[in-house]
Amino acid sequence: MPFRPRYTGLINKYRDRLPVQDDTRLISLGEGNTPLIKLNNIPGLLGKNVDIYVKYEGLNPTGSFKDRGMTMAVTKAVEEGSKAIICASTGNTSAAAAAYAARAGITAFVLIPEGKIAMGKLAQAMMHGAVVIQIKGNFDAGMQLVKEVAEQAPVTIVNSINPFRLQGQKTAAFEIVEELECAPDYHCLPVGNAGNISAHWMGYSEYRDQGIVNNSPVMVGYQAAGSAPFLRGHMVDNPETVATAIRIGHPQSWDKAWQVKDESGGWFDECTDEEILAAQKMLARKEGIFCEPASAASLAGAMRDIRGGRIPEGVKVVCTLTGHGLKDPDIAIRQSSAPPINVEAELEAVKAAILENMAS
Ligand SMILES: *Cc1c(COP(=O)(O)O)cnc(C)c1O
Repeated sequence: MPFRPRYTGLINKYRDRLPVQDDTRLISLGEGNTPLIKLNNIPGLLGKNVDIYVKYEGLNPTGSFKDRGMTMAVTKAVEEGSKAIICASTGNTSAAAAAYAARAGITAFVLIPEGKIAMGKLAQAMMHGAVVIQIKGNFDAGMQLVKEVAEQAPVTIVNSINPFRLQGQKTAAFEIVEELECAPDYHCLPVGNAGNISAHWMGYSEYRDQGIVNNSPVMVGYQAAGSAPFLRGHMVDNPETVATAIRIGHPQSWDKAWQVKDESGGWFDECTDEEILAAQKMLARKEGIFCEPASAASLAGAMRDIRGGRIPEGVKVVCTLTGHGLKDPDIAIRQSSAPPINVEAELEAVKAAILENMAS
């Protein structure tokens, strides 16, 4: 047959490395298999000889890496006979939970912080028919409530404390290794609950321990400065940042993430909201890649550490772009310096607008 087999999602591809049986009914939307894009222009702008790749997780079915974990969590919930799932969310988990629950024909309950969720994510949860419960509190308060209510109601938690979530998410590391034919030297991620950095390390360690590759990356986690418990060394009670996806003060994978840092020889650092938005814009303008603010924390931090030499020249760096830029259109429009040019619908007016703006 001249054709390659059709891609049918990450559980099917990595079946032998995930906790599923031959007859498990898979709840999938074709997630995973996202592009690893080598940056063409930004390394030169930094004046450094490094290979920077971005893993564009915004191209998953609901627009974030959460789909990798959700396909596993919902597949297992259905296998165990669950009729409802629940999560607290800064937005993307609720979007993924809503979509995969719809696919499975079960109910999704999502707790979100009132007024602190990006518009695209709220639209997704509502459109997929989730029961959206807005609380007058932040993610951390929602997470606490979810844990308590799951003890008293027949619902399966699909936050990243659900171990199947991290199993699904570790496949991103497999994909990167397969594409590069080795592990990268550094892997940079934005950190909120720290589930994803822990899942990546699981994936890299699995391939290294089984001799599929002989190296593993230094793991680097970047937090938003107003929401940086790993930098403070303790939980933070009122986290604030423009990057709402990582507006988390009480990370659920606290111990795991410290272990990742120690085992990989990595570090945590923080980025200001200004640095995050500047990196988001730079990526959009210089490379044609649109990610949401939280995602840009990985690149913002990596660029600073490359400039400063903490990440040396001659290495391969992967930055995870966790979510798509269209998730948060309000932030994107607010920070765009060139608003639309309004003209009459006439040739002369359009031509003048073009000639005046040729250089920029
Ligand atoms: C969930 C999320 C994160 C944070 O991931 P953790 O596993 O909680 O550390 C970062 N960026 C985006 C876009 C997210 O949706």
